[in-house]
Amino acid sequence: MSETTTASGLADPAARRKLMSGVDPEPGSAKPDAILKVDNITRHFGGITAVDVGHLEVQRGIITALIGPNGAGKTTFFNLITGFDRPSAGEGAHWSFDGATLDRTSASKVAKSGMVRTFQLTKALSRMTVMDNMMLGAQNQAGENLAKSLFKPFWGAQEKAIETKALGLLERFSLLEKRDDYGGSLSGGQRKLLEMARALMSDPKMIMLDEPMAGVNPALTQSLLGHIQSLRDEGTTVLFVEHDMHVVRHISDWVVVMAEGRLVAEGSADTVMSNQAVIDAYLGAHHDTDLGDDALLSDATLEQLEKEVALEDAEREEERS
Ligand code: ATP
Repeated sequence: MSETTTASGLADPAARRKLMSGVDPEPGSAKPDAILKVDNITRHFGGITAVDVGHLEVQRGIITALIGPNGAGKTTFFNLITGFDRPSAGEGAHWSFDGATLDRTSASKVAKSGMVRTFQLTKALSRMTVMDNMMLGAQNQAGENLAKSLFKPFWGAQEKAIETKALGLLERFSLLEKRDDYGGSLSGGQRKLLEMARALMSDPKMIMLDEPMAGVNPALTQSLLGHIQSLRDEGTTVLFVEHDMHVVRHISDWVVVMAEGRLVAEGSADTVMSNQAVIDAYLGAHHDTDLGDDALLSDATLEQLEKEVALEDAEREEERS
């Protein structure tokens, strides 16, 4: 993605529906133009099989949600395909992104290939300014090691261009006035915006978001959703993990469901949410899960979200004291 953005053919909802209408709503189904293909990826932790995915294809240019109950293996799966964890040996794991094989590739090389995930504002990053966080994003997202790269000789000729790009992205994400503030001083929603803006510094072909709405004030939820949709409309593929089913219904073009490490369903949001295997997986995990309805982000939903966020904030506050 660049500053001068061009609309993708898939900015049109009818074009996206048409594209996906021919895809089998079955786990592991083939996609017309898959940007990511994964085969036989498994990860055991002691006796637990956290991930056991036989085959998955992610369609280029659309928003795919990866959902599933707590402990389904979603984060472990993200870690595996981005090189932050290794599959368990001996299972013939193979995956490729945009035609390039990524098996056993380091996290920074995965990012260089164009598949970039967002990172939470860790302690180290919280102590840096918003602008420094953005400058590090240009370094291809090496996680906790990002801070080290600040001191590389890199900061020379390229710096000005990178700075200009960072300022442009901060403006787009309404964070320009915060550029000299510490990352740690931002609200939950602003942190998510910064994480997204930072990931965009390396012009990803696919952006991977792990719970982009967690801890976000309802006022910023709409703005974050809008940003995610704009990225897709400009041609960036989006793969995101999210617990909030209203959000999933609202912005996903395709939904992949995991349970107990395996893919259990795929399809449009409506298709998967009426799928018995999905309902069973959620009911087995937590009985109070709301699988969403058509009242997308209604006032009542937003109020509920606000209450949940306040409750989580209070819990965090209590933990700290
Ligand atoms: P959530 O939605 O709650 O974040 P998830 O779908 O992302 O869950 P994972 O965090 O990937 O699920 O966890 C999958 C399983 O693997 C869980 O049983 C978890 O306890 C286990 N697990 C994950 N990481 C480790 C680890 N480093 N060591 C041991 N077990 C782990």
